[in-house]
Amino acid sequence: MRCNICGCYEFLDMNSRKSVRCKKCGSLERTRLLWLYLQRLEISKNTRILHLAPERGLYDRIKTLTDKSNYVVADINPKAYSFAPECKKIDLCDLEDWPSFEFDLIIHSHVLEHVPCNIAYTLFHLHRMLSNNGTHLCIIPFMPGKYDECFQDIGDHERIRRFGQNDHVRRFGSDDIHAHLGKLLKLPSKFDATEDFSPKTLIEANIPENHWRGFHIGTVLSLKRQDMVLL
Ligand SMILES: [Zn+2]
Repeated sequence: MRCNICGCYEFLDMNSRKSVRCKKCGSLERTRLLWLYLQRLEISKNTRILHLAPERGLYDRIKTLTDKSNYVVADINPKAYSFAPECKKIDLCDLEDWPSFEFDLIIHSHVLEHVPCNIAYTLFHLHRMLSNNGTHLCIIPFMPGKYDECFQDIGDHERIRRFGQNDHVRRFGSDDIHAHLGKLLKLPSKFDATEDFSPKTLIEANIPENHWRGFHIGTVLSLKRQDMVLL
């Protein structure tokens, strides 16, 4: 097994998940699955990309695919990305000033559970920023149970209990995905990575079988601009 992003053969444990974190680029099983889906897109030097909270391994690969001026990386805390000194500040709760039709591809993974405002606002504006044929490629962590959210000061312990981490403001539930996010976005009825990649490809990239199917922490969503129902 080999990291399909950086080529490293060594993997470290990630909490209870054994041998999933690439020793060299830090990719996780979901990052490597996201890269498989990214490689299916026709990215050229003209492709305008917005990459939120950029992963280091993906950043190194994407910047070789598109023109530097077309690759925007951004986060609420740009200083956290020393490998990307050009990282811009973006506040996903304050997007009105970002132009419409600006990006052919918007990428993010495990970002939306951190965003402390109405998630419909953020999703509406991200889709508004996409070009007509643009793609929103993202991983939204779905956890067992139903959607839950809290903006009150409930403390770390309660936040970890309800949302899985002390800086999460919500959990996306796999049980009511179509009653919640499905009211905003035209979502697929199911996710099965083996319809897109062979088991051999997935195993070679050290993407374990528990990431292949269903709505879970590594499900890759590939959405078009018009999949946002409010637009
Ligand atoms: Zn790697």
